[in-house]
Amino acid sequence: MKRIAVLTSGGDAPGMNAAIRSVVRASVYYQIEIYGVYRGYRGLIDGDIEPLYASSVADIIHKGGTFLKSARSEAFKEPKFRKQAADHLKAKGIDGLVVIGGDGSFIGAEKISEEGISTVAIPGTIDNDLAYTDESIGFDTSVNTVLDSISKIRDTSTSHEKPTIVEVMGRHCGDIALYSGIAGGAGTIIIPEEKTTTNEIIAKLNKDRQRGKLHHLILLAEGVQSAASLQEELKKQTGISARISVLGFIQRGGDPTSRDRILASRMGVKAVELLMDGHSNQAVGIHNNQVYHLPIQEALAITKPFDQEMYDLTKILSV
Ligand code: ATP
Repeated sequence: MKRIAVLTSGGDAPGMNAAIRSVVRASVYYQIEIYGVYRGYRGLIDGDIEPLYASSVADIIHKGGTFLKSARSEAFKEPKFRKQAADHLKAKGIDGLVVIGGDGSFIGAEKISEEGISTVAIPGTIDNDLAYTDESIGFDTSVNTVLDSISKIRDTSTSHEKPTIVEVMGRHCGDIALYSGIAGGAGTIIIPEEKTTTNEIIAKLNKDRQRGKLHHLILLAEGVQSAASLQEELKKQTGISARISVLGFIQRGGDPTSRDRILASRMGVKAVELLMDGHSNQAVGIHNNQVYHLPIQEALAITKPFDQEMYDLTKILSV
């Protein structure tokens, strides 16, 4: 392998820059020419590909977002555009591609490998919804961002003696809510993986009220329902007016934590080494603190087991 390219795709995640830097520096170290594709698969279709050097990635390890930009591309789902994308790479003599993104981006990587491009995918998504890896790049930073917000919300919630519903991201995965809720001492954590009825939430609020605690932090994963609809339900059934706070995109930004930077650095080097060793269609992951790889198709077929132990903690600690 003489030339490889790297791109970021789907929702951005803190630590993507650190991952790009790692891919670039590993390539330079192993004397492979490295190219950056701007704006994900959209840029690949457009041939938006530029050479990168060790200096191109100086001063980015600590920055959120992705300097290569990210995008979503419906066109890439069509074979004719994937061929066009692969032709752009081949025209530059590039035969390997590192994709940093979420599950959709992984499918894209798998599909373009059918066009004769060797691919390796690195998990970059705050959602932590890829089951084959213990953690994806961006998740730890996102949890810490939520935690910081919770601490501030807690202050005003306590002063005003009102319950607050904090809606966090994660789509169908409740990990951001679960981890930040435990670390932030939430009274109730509501995640898609485990049903929580409105009556259970009300019982919890009443129990707290009986012991004189009027504020109560409810961590709600977006995949369950919106904070506004839960607020309305609670108001209707109890007359209690909870405050709501929808954290939104702040969860995707910010300087990556050391944990995310190190994860990204380890995975980036691994991706380049896999391509050098002739692998293709591989997903890089981490399990028991070991970086490992498996075919993308196998990685995506694994379903995330529900972490009952973590969930039980939330019940015990908010007694
Ligand atoms: P996030 O988890 O942050 O949403 P993601 O990588 O899952 O990130 P998607 O929008 O699902 O984000 O996918 C990113 C891109 O991957 C899509 O815009 C598309 O270009 C490509 N992609 C997704 N699914 C397919 C598919 N079935 N075939 C080819 N390309 C695909």
